[in-house]
Amino acid sequence: MSVTLNAPPRSEPAVDDEARWTAVLTRDRSYDGEFYYSVASTGAYCHPSCPSRLAHRRNVRFHTTIAEAEAAGFRPCKRCRPDQPSLEEQQAAKIAKVCRLIAEAEEQPKLKELAKSVGLSPYHFHRIFKGVTGVTPKAYATAERQKRIRERLGKSTSVTEAIYDAGFNSSGRFYAELSRVLGMTPRAFQSGGASAEIRFAVGECSLGSILVAASPHGVCAISFGDDPDALVRELQDKFPRARLFGGDADFERLVAKVVGFIEAPRMGFDLPLDVRGTAFQHRVWTALRDIPPGATASYAEIAERIGAPKAARAVAGVCAANKIAAAIPCHRIVRTDGAISGYRWGVERRLILLDKEAK
Ligand SMILES: [Zn+2]
Repeated sequence: MSVTLNAPPRSEPAVDDEARWTAVLTRDRSYDGEFYYSVASTGAYCHPSCPSRLAHRRNVRFHTTIAEAEAAGFRPCKRCRPDQPSLEEQQAAKIAKVCRLIAEAEEQPKLKELAKSVGLSPYHFHRIFKGVTGVTPKAYATAERQKRIRERLGKSTSVTEAIYDAGFNSSGRFYAELSRVLGMTPRAFQSGGASAEIRFAVGECSLGSILVAASPHGVCAISFGDDPDALVRELQDKFPRARLFGGDADFERLVAKVVGFIEAPRMGFDLPLDVRGTAFQHRVWTALRDIPPGATASYAEIAERIGAPKAARAVAGVCAANKIAAAIPCHRIVRTDGAISGYRWGVERRLILLDKEAK
């Protein structure tokens, strides 16, 4: 997780002296750090937002850096302290330090300890941390640890080793947290989220190039595109830890069967699928496969059918992540008003699929 600082909203850059003077007149904080102004009568230089009494325009000069102002013989104003880091900068530095502590800690540090490390009260620290990072320290630490688990699982030879590497003392706690994070068992994740061996082939159909991939358990990906190489690259991205093999003659027959189904969808798709996912994803996939060819349904209807009427958005998310085009018919989903919306393999292909099914 990276830290994004919530910078104050910035107006247009003050390109000329007139715009700079307006910033000074309005004490616009969004220009602090962008330029400084010096006042000949006092010998001091200030942030544009300095609360001191306004100087006469004729005594004011502008400087783009502190060094420039000091080289011209001015000293920092004692009220706005332009030579000191701003409050935001100071807070950001503290939060960055805490983020490093969290990343390096073996055990999830306590809020009290984190606050103490940067000299803040727990309450104040919690508020500033959330203001700077957008999440609570606890949520940040949890995300950090989950990231670590994912990295370790990729590298470690055994799941147990990854558990202790990630700073858990007991595998029970680890499994409880992990099945939630990964949506699958650590062992399945470690093998790339799918079986270790995947065969694939790219063919042609009326929708353009079609890639079909299968593990020993069944078809694990079907995708469409214009560029066969791009389809294979995408397959590698989807199954980063699987060993990919080009399909042999047997496999070509499987691809021919899939193409036959694409061209004549009413024949039905009777090949086994190898789909891995959470219980929720499985419920959505099953509901999609229950929509007969030629029929359509909306996200809300699917949510209703799986007994989670408020989950229409989550259903949409599952559809958007579908790896097995056509066989898991996410193309049969329409908007509530019946309109055809986007499709990850192109709206035109969705229309062709629906058209074939209508026949
Ligand atoms: Zn000042």
